[in-house]
Amino acid sequence: MAVMSFRGAGREAMDIHVDLLTGLPDRRFFWQLVDEKLAEHSEGACMLTMNIEHFSYYNKWYGRQEGDKLLAEIAAFLQQCCRDWGVVAGYMGDDVFSVFFYSSAVDVAEKVRQGIIAIMQTVRDNEIFRPIFGGFVLKKGMEAGAIDLFDYTVNAIGQAVDSLNMGIYWFDEQMARQLIEEMELMPKITSGMEKAQFTFYLQPKCQIRDGRIVGAEALMRWISDTGEVIPPDRFIPALEKNGYIIQLDRYIWEKACQVICRWMEQGRRILPISVNISRIDIMEMDVVEVFGQLLDKYKIPVEYLELEITESAYAAKEALIKEAEKGLRKLGFKILIDDFGSGYSSLNMLKDIQADVLKLDMRFLDMNKDNYLKGRNIVSSVITMANQIDLPVIAEGVETLEQSEMLLSLGCSFAQGYYYYRPMPIAEYEFLLEDENNVAASNITSRKSGAAYLRDLAQYFGMVAEVNPFTGEYHVIHHDDNFRLSFGRRPDTITEYIEESVSEGCVHADDVAGYLRRSSLSYVKERLLGKRLRILYDLRYRRNGVYKWYTFECQQPKSFSLDSPWVLFTWKRANEEASERIDALMLMHNIFRKVIRVNLRSGCFDVLKKDKDEQPGLYRDAHNIVDYATAFARRFVHPDDRTTFEWFVEQRRVLQHFRDTDGEPLRMNFRHKTAEGYRDCQIEIYRSVEYSASKPVLLVTIRDLYKL
Ligand code: C2E
Ligand code: CA
Ligand code: CA
Repeated sequence: MAVMSFRGAGREAMDIHVDLLTGLPDRRFFWQLVDEKLAEHSEGACMLTMNIEHFSYYNKWYGRQEGDKLLAEIAAFLQQCCRDWGVVAGYMGDDVFSVFFYSSAVDVAEKVRQGIIAIMQTVRDNEIFRPIFGGFVLKKGMEAGAIDLFDYTVNAIGQAVDSLNMGIYWFDEQMARQLIEEMELMPKITSGMEKAQFTFYLQPKCQIRDGRIVGAEALMRWISDTGEVIPPDRFIPALEKNGYIIQLDRYIWEKACQVICRWMEQGRRILPISVNISRIDIMEMDVVEVFGQLLDKYKIPVEYLELEITESAYAAKEALIKEAEKGLRKLGFKILIDDFGSGYSSLNMLKDIQADVLKLDMRFLDMNKDNYLKGRNIVSSVITMANQIDLPVIAEGVETLEQSEMLLSLGCSFAQGYYYYRPMPIAEYEFLLEDENNVAASNITSRKSGAAYLRDLAQYFGMVAEVNPFTGEYHVIHHDDNFRLSFGRRPDTITEYIEESVSEGCVHADDVAGYLRRSSLSYVKERLLGKRLRILYDLRYRRNGVYKWYTFECQQPKSFSLDSPWVLFTWKRANEEASERIDALMLMHNIFRKVIRVNLRSGCFDVLKKDKDEQPGLYRDAHNIVDYATAFARRFVHPDDRTTFEWFVEQRRVLQHFRDTDGEPLRMNFRHKTAEGYRDCQIEIYRSVEYSASKPVLLVTIRDLYKL
């Protein structure tokens, strides 16, 4: 901003500020000019203020110079308005402009608006950088100064946030009333908080396919003294302005944890609850710490609580939000991007989004007849792109059957909206879940498939096994062909396995002694009790007739306990940069209940990882995979899911699928009987690396949903 100082003829000596870039009066000078005009006439008058949504991004994306160019262009147009229609125009700083004129010419406001829109339509990404207009009409006889008028217009703009409408928001009596109401509201809210009048309703999220429930969102409600249920848009905006929202949100989050806790105690079926995190929460408190404490305090599995962060928060304080998001994900929370499509988001943003689920709001799309195709296209491209990156989409605000059918046809699987259920009191929701028919077997699945983890593992490890150092029992989670023993029988203990491999000549003679010592159970146990369990030993292992270096490693997983004393034995390829893969490995260890390799033609199979809860000998009579699957279905699959399960694993169907496709994995969710009751699990079938048409070797994994 340049300051020019001159003495105007007929005026008192004073500093006059004109902005150099735009050539328009700055805000103080503008106010002064307007006040002078107001003093001259007693007719009504009108002020219009505009700004550009997300303008700071315009500067960031296209450079300051481009931003300045745009501002100058707008200013040039406004100067033309001054000449043509006698308005007073001012540059109020940043991306804000105001004009003032007599209300006898209200249509001037409309002309100004259209001129600005015409300019904005020429800029790039103009669906993001939209002008917003706020106006105020000063009626004849009303008393107000220039600053008051400006405040009113700014307030009107405040009402327009997150709206696609590019009309003028007039500050009217209703808004004035609202301002007053807001001021009067605060003491009531404070007393409402003291009287514990705040609670939440739950709105189910459903599978579109059959309308069954997969989870719910907690939506704040205020039950007033008179018993009226007040929705959040009547009080949250006021609370966001003065920061009180953070106390109320913390209260609601805690309450959600308490409800989950109670459900666990009552042995109810639990589907995750998502809570809303406001932009203000992230700015004003350490949300990572707060949610970490909640987990500690209530001891609830992290998968029962999910977090919704609104997309517009990303536009406002990107770095801060990203950091919070990272911390929350580290704690294990699933993050839902709320209100996707409300404005800021471009499809490009999807590519580097870290979130786990996208909530696409149908209410933001103008889906009337004329715009139907456009709306459908937007929805369609978002869903397509999300599907490409394995990001589940929940469509919000679904009100009609047509909408839900359209969504399904576009590849969207989940929805939330009045068409399914309205938000309801907690007790009503509990009642709803008591009927199994209302509940989906599956939940929204996570992004990375089991296949991807196994592939990661195969790249770096020759073999991974979990070992009980007290009994020598072991489950092989993964091994490549080099680690297969040539004889048929599977050794009973890891010690036998290692001794067999040595006697088969797999290990270089010079490394044998050290290897046997480091991998012996007595050595492992000694280290274990000394709490220093990390054994490393490099050895040469024979691979296709030549010796290759591997690092044998024994580690103690975090989940280790004397009740479940499993440690990990890994044989890592020594020439790979595998150190940072350890985490993937730990994950892997926790992911699968069961991993089976099967040749579907012969029906021969190997259980690579056995379910820890499973008693030994269960499948003694299962001589091929069909017997095995049948026995499994009978014993472990929920009766209601059994028919589908049997269809899913049917040998001919599976063979056909892998013959006809590029190897798309098959997935199905079902309820798996476990020691703690039924759990939602996913079975996945995919081609193994050895797969060929004549030798259709497949991998079958079963894992708990929510584990990731
Ligand atoms: P939201 O997070 O987008 O929540 C969805 C809103 O859409 C809810 O309004 C819900 O009742 C409404 N809705 C659901 N289905 C339909 C439908 O089919 N048609 C229409 N027209 N509306 C539908 P609600 O409960 O009034 O909440 C409004 C907003 O208030 C929420 O929007 C959220 O941004 C905020 N909010 C709610 N609870 C909390 C909270 O605990 N903390 C914070 N910070 N914000 C909250
Ligand atoms: Ca939400
Ligand atoms: Ca939403």
